[in-house]
Amino acid sequence: MNGQTHIALGLIAAHALGAGDVASLAGAALGSLLPDIDGGGAIARPLESLLPKVLPRLPIIKAVDSLASTLSGAIRRVFGHRGVTHWPPIVAVGLGLVGLQSDFVLYFALGWLVHIYADGLTKNGVRLGLLGDRFKLPKWVAVRTGGMMEAVISACAWGYLAAIASQFVWKYVLGVLEVSF
Ligand SMILES: [Zn+2]
Repeated sequence: MNGQTHIALGLIAAHALGAGDVASLAGAALGSLLPDIDGGGAIARPLESLLPKVLPRLPIIKAVDSLASTLSGAIRRVFGHRGVTHWPPIVAVGLGLVGLQSDFVLYFALGWLVHIYADGLTKNGVRLGLLGDRFKLPKWVAVRTGGMMEAVISACAWGYLAAIASQFVWKYVLGVLEVSF
């Protein structure tokens, strides 16, 4: 699935589990993008299209971009796409190494797991064991990455997030009005 769909699904899962602060939501969003660092540049694409809109094309941004692309290409060459970064136990190992001290790390792991689960719904599936078997849905139900069904899932997910965000805005506006009258 594409980066935008992964971010939306990661945020919905985080919201469902009670994440409300910026660090938790940022963790979920980053975690939901990270597995595609093995896409040979796939993780850089959503960032590349987003960053120039919010940040000027500074040399540091270009350097981060090319570093991410190099790292991404190297991981893809060694492990292949949907290899080690899409293997569920690696999330547990990563959590064990980094520790469970912060909400950011917990929601980062959640975003990562939701990413693997979402990729499991696509035609290529995901690898359950590092060496072997792929989990794949039957072809007639599996979602094609970048296809019509993914566009529908993505639109619904972003629409749902927009509805949640507008509720927050309303609550805030009503709170301000209550204080001022
Ligand atoms: Zn993926």
